Amino acid sequence: MDMKCPFCQEFGERTTIHRHMVDAHMDHVTTTHDESSGKMAFVVTCPFCGLAYSRQVKPRGRNPRFLEEFRSEIALVAFDQILLHVLVRHAPEVGVDLDRES
Ligand SMILES: [Zn+2]
Ligand SMILES: [Zn+2]
Repeated sequence: MDMKCPFCQEFGERTTIHRHMVDAHMDHVTTTHDESSGKMAFVVTCPFCGLAYSRQVKPRGRNPRFLEEFRSEIALVAFDQILLHVLVRHAPEVGVDLDRES
């Protein structure tokens, strides 16, 4: 399935766009770290409706460098979620005609 990147004009296969988002738009994924509880989470916001996706990240053990080391893995998961949302809610905005694709 070809689609447009939700954050810019890049166009391509969904998997290519997914990878492109990690390469080009990692700054759209915000990570938070609560020092006292050790809880970590990421937040990514839909560029079309402003919906914020937040999910807790569970690092193995207490690795203070976890967020830095796994930033691209976290971004992959975060962008996967936002892509799903965008395809369901904003398909026309990313150049996808769901009726035609199915
Ligand atoms: Zn882009
Ligand atoms: Zn949205």
